[in-house]
This record gives sequence, structure tokens and C-alpha cells, in this order.
Amino acid sequence: VLLDVSHVPRETLLERLPRMYRQFLDLAMLDITSTPMEVAPTAHYSMGGVVVEPDTHLTDVEGLYAVGECASGLHGANRLGGNSLVEGVVFGRRVGAHAAAYVRDVEVALRDRAAIAAAEEEVDATLAGRGEEFARPLQRAVRDTMTEHCGVVRTEEGLAAGLARLDGIAARAGDLEVRPDIAGYADLVHAFDLRAMLLSARATIVAARERRETRGAHNRADFPLSDRDLRVNLILDGDLTVSRRPVGQASPAVAELVECAGELQVAGRLLE
Ligand SMILES: Cc1cc2nc3c(=O)[nH]c(=O)nc-3n(C[C@H](O)[C@H](O)[C@H](O)COP(=O)(O)OP(=O)(O)OC[C@H]3O[C@@H](n4cnc5c(N)ncnc54)[C@H](O)[C@@H]3O)c2cc1C
Repeated sequence: VLLDVSHVPRETLLERLPRMYRQFLDLAMLDITSTPMEVAPTAHYSMGGVVVEPDTHLTDVEGLYAVGECASGLHGANRLGGNSLVEGVVFGRRVGAHAAAYVRDVEVALRDRAAIAAAEEEVDATLAGRGEEFARPLQRAVRDTMTEHCGVVRTEEGLAAGLARLDGIAARAGDLEVRPDIAGYADLVHAFDLRAMLLSARATIVAARERRETRGAHNRADFPLSDRDLRVNLILDGDLTVSRRPVGQASPAVAELVECAGELQVAGRLLE
């Protein structure tokens, strides 16, 4: 879509959108005060992620923490503009402090030999791949699939078609050619990345199909309203079976903040 803001006085635009003005100038050599800019929806943030313990961000693997966009739960159904960087700063500090306190008391680090052997085997098997496919085009195919089938507006039909496309990509991913070369092991990294992408893409679509309602940034054209019964977190286990966990209550301090916030006055404001 072409967005024309040239009717807004130039001084107002420069005052309100200095970063956007600069970005378009730097990256596209476009002066948005006089020329329409092309805008399109894009992936911005993942609301799902690894389940963590709220205060420390400890996962269910002892000593392993997840923080930032890979962890889930902090923002509910929609991460508001700016909150992600705040999240990184606030929880990065908290997790760092907790992890430091944890290691102070650890005298012996036990390594699971079976897990290490399994990982080595996986690396060797992946390196031995001499198939017909390359990881990078398949990574692109996963991205395209998610953009087309699990983007801004979702439907049962589209999500099911997306899953079928992921099945096809996963089958092709079983026939990879992986060759480290003089430039390094990038091929191997892409092969592992592709596996992780396929898993998280599948988890995202499975959860989006299960959530037959519209909530926050999850917009189902076939279920346009929110469903009270779905005021839950959807938890996926290793084989992507879905279970529901009720959403916790806000602490009194947070509840009071929400209560006092009142209705946001949006006139004259730029909203993300
Ligand atoms: C276009 C766009 C605009 C945004 N604008 C805003 C904004 O204005 N305000 C705001 O608050 N948020 C914004 N966000 C969201 C915000 O930028 C991200 O949520 C935030 O940067 C996430 O930080 P993170 O440290 O959790 O993850 P990341 O910044 O993604 O860091 C993860 C790191 O892990 C590395 N990594 C990945 N896999 C591996 C591996 N296997 N081994 C080793 N390293 C690995 C990656 O290379 C990366 O460096 C925006 C996001 C996008 C895409």
C-alpha cells in the first residue's frame, strides 16, 4: 500500500516522525514529506515462546534461562510498541542477577553424556547429508509460508493449508545437502536453523488453529470475537500436543495501575 503523508505540514512530520523520516531517506532515498512511501505488514514480535518462571525466567531445564522475545507470557496477546526493548533491559538484568546467584552455589557442573553423544550423532548425521535440497531456499519457503498463511488475518482454511505446506518443506528438509567449505560451517548452521524454524512454525500454526477466537494480535477472520473460555495460555509439549493453562491474576500493584490508567486519549497521537 502506498501511504501519502505529504498533506501533513513538513515541520509536524519532522517533529513527530524523525526516525521514520531519516530511515526512508537513508535506506530508500525517499523524502516522505513529499513522496508516498510503500508500507506492508511484517513480522514484528513473537508472543509465544519458551515457558519460563515469571520472576526469574528459569525454564524447566535446571540452570537454563530464557529472556526476551524467545520467552513467553510477559505481554499477553499483544506486545505494545516499545515494550520489547524495556523487556530486554528489565528482565535481562533480573535474569542476569538470578543466574549469577545460581552459579555461585554450583560447585560441580554435571554434563549429561547421553545428551552430548546424541548431539554429536546429530551433527555427524547432518554433515553426512548428500541429498537434493539446500537449507537456505527451504528457510525462505518457511518464511513465505508463515507470511501467507499465519500472518495478520488468519482462517482455519489458511492455517490448515500452511500446515500442509510445512509438511512438504519438512519432507524436503529430510533430503539435505550439507557441505562445510573453505568459508566455514554456515551450511550446517542453516540446516539446524531450518529444523528449529520448522518446529516453531508448526507450533505457531497448531496454536493458532486451536485458538478459535480473535484476541490481541491473533486475528481470526472466521472467529472475529474473543471467547471467554479461551482466556488461557496454550502450552505445547514436545510432540505439539496442546493443553490449556488459565491466565494468572495480575498482582494488586499491576491491577491498580491498569485500573488507574483510564481510557487512553488517542487524538493527535501516533499509535503503533
Ligand atoms: C522491524 C522491527 C521493529 C521493531 N521495533 C521495535 C520498537 O520500536 N520497540 C521495541 O521495543 N521493540 C521493537 N521490535 C522488537 C524488538 O526489536 C525485539 O523483540 C527485540 O530486539 C528482541 O530482543 P532479544 O534479545 O530477545 O532477541 P534478538 O534481538 O532476536 O536476539 C537474539 C540473538 O540470538 C542470536 N541467535 C539466534 N539463534 C542462535 C543460536 N542458535 N546460537 C547463537 N545465537 C543465536 C541471534 O543472532 C540474535 O543476535 C521490533 C522488531 C522488528 C522486527
